[in-house]
This record gives sequence, C-alpha cells and structure tokens, in this order.
Amino acid sequence: MSLVADLERAVGADAVVSERAQVRTYECDGLTGHRATPQAVVLPRTTAEVRAAVRVCHARGIPFVARGAGTGLSGGAVPVAEGIVIGLARMNRILEVDVPNRRVRVGPGVANLDVTRAVAPHGLYYAPDPSSQQVCTIGGNVAENSGGAHCLKYGFTTNHVLELEVVLADGDVVRLDRAGGLDLLGAFVGSEGTLGIATEIVVAVLPRPQRVETLLAAFPSTDAAGEVVSAVIAAGIVPAAIEMMDSVTIRAAEAAVGAGLPLDAGAVLLVELDGPAVEVEVALARVRECCAAGLADDVRVASTEAERTAFWRGRKAAFAAMGRISPDYYVQDGVVPRTRLPETLRRISELSRGYGLEVANVFHAGDGNLHPLVLYDGAVEGEPERAAELASAILEACVDAGGSLTGEHGIGLDKACHMPLMYSEDDLATMLRLRSAFDPKGLCNPGKAFPTPRLCGEVPGPYRRHPAEREGVERW
Ligand SMILES: Cc1cc2nc3c(=O)[nH]c(=O)nc-3n(C[C@H](O)[C@H](O)[C@H](O)COP(=O)(O)OP(=O)(O)OC[C@H]3O[C@@H](n4cnc5c(N)ncnc54)[C@H](O)[C@@H]3O)c2cc1C
Repeated sequence: MSLVADLERAVGADAVVSERAQVRTYECDGLTGHRATPQAVVLPRTTAEVRAAVRVCHARGIPFVARGAGTGLSGGAVPVAEGIVIGLARMNRILEVDVPNRRVRVGPGVANLDVTRAVAPHGLYYAPDPSSQQVCTIGGNVAENSGGAHCLKYGFTTNHVLELEVVLADGDVVRLDRAGGLDLLGAFVGSEGTLGIATEIVVAVLPRPQRVETLLAAFPSTDAAGEVVSAVIAAGIVPAAIEMMDSVTIRAAEAAVGAGLPLDAGAVLLVELDGPAVEVEVALARVRECCAAGLADDVRVASTEAERTAFWRGRKAAFAAMGRISPDYYVQDGVVPRTRLPETLRRISELSRGYGLEVANVFHAGDGNLHPLVLYDGAVEGEPERAAELASAILEACVDAGGSLTGEHGIGLDKACHMPLMYSEDDLATMLRLRSAFDPKGLCNPGKAFPTPRLCGEVPGPYRRHPAEREGVERW
C-alpha cells in the first residue's frame, strides 16, 4: 500500500492532501528562503487522528513536521523533502475557559489572539503577544517559546503554559505538567517541534491591568535611544514593553500604516507601563525624566485608546511594511545584553555599509532582542547570498557581544548551522540525548534547532538547499 493510501486509511481521505500543486503550499514558512516539498499533508481534527498519522510515519520511518499557521521565521515548519506535514489548523477550538482558576484549554491550532478574545468579557487576557498574534497558533508559540512586546514584564510562552497533551514520535500520547519530577513540560516548550506534537494546551490568563500608559519618544539616533533603555531599567522600572524602531523602519511603517511616527527621527522608543494606577503614574514621570535627560526631541503620551492603538499599529506592522521600501527582506533574531545595544547597532551599521545592503532595525529593546531586517532584491544576482552572509555576520556580532542566536524566533533550519558558535560538541550531544529520549528514530522535525545525528557534518546553512532535499527520504 502506498504511503498516501495508508494515511488516508488512518485519518480519512478528506484529511490528506497529496496533489503536487496543493502540497507546495506547505513548502516553507515565513522565512521563504528555505523550501522543500512534502510528499503529503495530513490535516487532522482530533488527537486520535494526529496519533494515527504519526503511527503510519513511525512504522514506515518517514519524517514528519507539525505545522501551525506557518508564520515561523526560522524555517522551523519546512518539511523534509518527501516527508509528511501534519497541519494543526483544524484543531482550532477553545475547549474550556476556567475563569475562577484563570486557565484556558485550547487545541493547538487556536490563534494566539483568540485566547484573549475568549476571556476578554471576564476582564482577562493572554499575555504573550507576538506581532503575528492575529494568525500564529498557540501550538507554534509553544514550539518556539514565542515572545512579544509585553514579554519583558510578563515572561515568554513558557511562563504561561500549565499543561500539555503531546503525541510522541511513536504515537504514544502523554500529558506533561509541572506537578513534580523533572520539568519535561519546560523541556518541550521551545523544542521547535522536535520532541513531539502538542495536541492540547492549557495556558494561564491574567487580569487586565488597572491602568496602561503608552509613550512614544523620538531621538536623534539609535545610540541615544539605546542609552535611555538602559537608564529606564537602571531606574528600577520594569515597563510592560520598550520597543525601538530606527529611521529606516519608521519610514517603512509610516508609508504602510500612517501611524503618525516622526519621520525626521533617528529612532523612536515605544514604552508601555501598566499596573496599579498610582504605580504607573510614578513610573511614567520617571520615564519622561529619562527621555528628557537622554536628548529626546519629542515625547508623546497617548491620550486616548485610539492613539495608543495607532502607536502600536506602527510597531506591529513594521515587518510587513518593509515591502514598501524593499522587494525582499531577511529577518534575523539575535540577543545582546541591554547595555551593549548601542555598540551592537553601530556594528550592524558598519556591516550594512560593508555588504552594501540596507538594514532596518525594529526590536524588543528592553530585553536586548534585536530584529535586524536585511533588505535586498532577490531578482538581483548574488543579493540573496549577500543578504544571508550579512545576516550571519550580524548573528556572530551578537554572540561576540555576549548575546545569543535567538530571542524568540527559534533556531529552526535557518540557524542550526550556527549552533556551534554558542555551544560546544558536548553541549550539543547533551541536547541530542534528550531529543533521542523522546524520539529515538529522529523522525520528528529532523534537522531543526540543532543538527540531528544523521545530519551531523553536513549542516544546512542559510539559503543553501537542505541536504535531505538533495538526497531524498532514504537518508532518514
Ligand atoms: C509578521 C511577523 C511577526 C512576528 N512577530 C513575532 C514576535 O513578535 N514574537 C515571536 O516570538 N515570533 C514572532 N513571529 C514568528 C512566528 O509568528 C512565531 O514563531 C509563531 O509562534 C509561529 O507560530 P505558527 O503557528 O505560525 O507556527 P509554524 O510556523 O507553523 O511552526 C513553527 C514551529 O512550531 C512547530 N509546531 C507548530 N505547531 C506545533 C505543535 N502543535 N506541536 C509541536 N510543534 C509545533 C513547527 O514544527 C515549527 O517548528 C512573527 C512572524 C511574522 C511573520
């Protein structure tokens, strides 16, 4: 029996896509430079169907990858060529809202913002807020340990996940929580789909803060803005968010959404404070002082909800807005210690000049999480490769500054080759031992996060073809 027939028997023909043109939809995620065509896509509706599909893959030794909304920016949901994609989009039901205990149980395909929508009538919300939150799924957020503007104060996805139901690579179903023993739930969150497929997720939701104030400050340069970020934190204030946009990003975001950002600024900071009213008032005064001492040209505090939304619209539209000023962009996600932001941004400018490609910077400044967007034109010969090299050089600069390879987008396929910059062979071997305990055959999203054993020595680099794509599925 063919693989497709076997899958159709396991989950029903209406849950399997195998037509060549249709499966190509699943070739890549939001980082479109990495692509591979799967043999088939399974779209299960229940945990039992996920389990049935995984069992077919396990019996045949076929690699599979879970997929949420495909908004990932590290190639995490790229399939192995001729492998299987298991798309969780149909498992998009809110299963339970437990208001007294502030817990929500969801299917993995529920969009991030839909959790907040479900609990908003009770004065609650779900804190992790990736800029893609209208579409990205809670399953994808768990896999990537996703962050967002407000994670500076409230923590990343891992701080909000209470329980998981997981289908392991052999089809066994387990529940993970933090009730005691080893923190396997902690190991799963952020494992980039390499330890199994989350089929049910319980998250914690929080009460809406009493007061929120949002301030937009314009500065002559990113250096000046970076100094103010350090000054605010040094003053003992933990804002809900501190975001920075440089002049290139301001130009693109204004062209796209007209949020009222100052076009003549070298950089803007968007600072949000929330909590008890009296505490917010004091903190707002301190932030204003820091901005004034840090040479801010213009400081505006949103006076209405509409104005606050407009400030955020400018920030949240920033990635998509790059289309206004460049045919293509390659987004990176590195972290540096907050105090080293100014020098790292200077280094990025030097690299940008050296490679002859513009770089836009928009990022979570409060936690030193940079998102340099390397602008290029894919139609110009050699530019995609130059963009990839520049992006790699930026990552190296982040690691050299004492930072790391990713803050929230994950390592995925894109940065697996850079892992040796940060980790020794022993470190990587230890991670692989844990991975092998969950998935001894290495079938669950192989080649992501770190070289899976069979890929060692031949690690894929940015915009290079995945080895498995060249050599076919037998390799697995
Ligand atoms: C415009 C834009 C803005 C973004 N802003 C942010 C941001 O602010 N913060 C941030 O952290 N990220 C951001 N991202 C990246 C992306 O949205 C997140 O990584 C998100 O969590 C991916 O969710 P997804 O449903 O699209 O997952 P996918 O892209 O489909 O998959 C991502 C990874 O998760 C795995 N996976 C998916 N579902 C499951 C599951 N149920 N079980 C196990 N593994 C699974 C996949 O195998 C893959 O490795 C942004 C992306 C875009 C395009």
